[in-house]
Amino acid sequence: MEKEYWMKKAIDQAKKAQTYDEVPIGCIIVKDEKIIARGSNRRETKQSSLAHAEILAIEKACKKLGTWRLEGCDLYVTLEPCPMCSGAIIQSRIEHVYFGAYDPKGGCAGSCTNLFEVKGFNHYPSYEGGIMRSECAKLLSDFFKEKRKQKKQLKKQGTPSE
Ligand SMILES: [Zn+2]
Repeated sequence: MEKEYWMKKAIDQAKKAQTYDEVPIGCIIVKDEKIIARGSNRRETKQSSLAHAEILAIEKACKKLGTWRLEGCDLYVTLEPCPMCSGAIIQSRIEHVYFGAYDPKGGCAGSCTNLFEVKGFNHYPSYEGGIMRSECAKLLSDFFKEKRKQKKQLKKQGTPSE
């Protein structure tokens, strides 16, 4: 299957996050040409800084396979992984990472730093960014644009801000 095919599935998860009024970031984990886990950002719903799409997907994949070692698994995520998720990817022995948009404010696969290239670790996933980059980035920019608009409207209505 093409990388774009799987990235579209991750985008579906990002759109799902958005239906919960969450920042649209989605992730899937693929093994043997099958999706074994999905995750979409739930930081607000769960009020947990750990509830990133990748972490939720990794948890599900471990449960499904009955092992913390996700060898032979590929992870697709719509945004460049943060330090926590890059760490979890390394810890879970995921083989290949594919991400969509770059995150200049937090990405750890090349933008802010590159945890996948730090010398001395005992596992390195291969990784590739920029897959369906503009689609993934547009979801995010549209979401934040809409948020700003809503904020402005609330201000206009004189609703006290939090
Ligand atoms: Zn993360």
